Amino acid sequence: MQDTGEIKHIHRPVTASRRCHECSDEALGRCPDCGFSFCQDHFPKQQHAPCAEKQMKLAQTQVCYVCGVQVYPDQWSLSKTLHFVDQFTCRGCGRHICDALHTKHKTEDVMIVREGMRGHRYQYVNRYCDLCAPLSSVGGIKGLARFIVVAGTIAATILFFLRP
Ligand SMILES: [Zn+2]
Ligand SMILES: [Zn+2]
Ligand SMILES: [Zn+2]
Ligand SMILES: [Zn+2]
Repeated sequence: MQDTGEIKHIHRPVTASRRCHECSDEALGRCPDCGFSFCQDHFPKQQHAPCAEKQMKLAQTQVCYVCGVQVYPDQWSLSKTLHFVDQFTCRGCGRHICDALHTKHKTEDVMIVREGMRGHRYQYVNRYCDLCAPLSSVGGIKGLARFIVVAGTIAATILFFLRP
């Protein structure tokens, strides 16, 4: 399997595979959503067709769950090999949150992807809302729910034995 992939890659004209999906510039970052490669200008979601259309459709549902303000999941390239991706969702509960008021805590995941001669660095912004920030170490609201189930079971067991 691995070998066939390698051979295909060698036979494909290098220039075509390294070209931006929107224009003829050199492709740098690969969009994590649509999977196409884009130049620095076309990498942001609003700048290329498949994702810009998707963003338009989702505009009504992409709102901060606390204050209802619209959020714009985005990505951008700072340099030829440094790309940022920000989904504007809370890592703990998965809901959209705004940057100004309701992102309590922010961390970054770094992923290095090799493409051709270069190593590309993708930085994924992780956000946590007010509820999930203190629980970010146990995996947010979902983690807490699991904890409550366990604690509830223990409490029920204790009550069972305490009953006269
Ligand atoms: Zn381009
Ligand atoms: Zn895309
Ligand atoms: Zn908000
Ligand atoms: Zn949350």
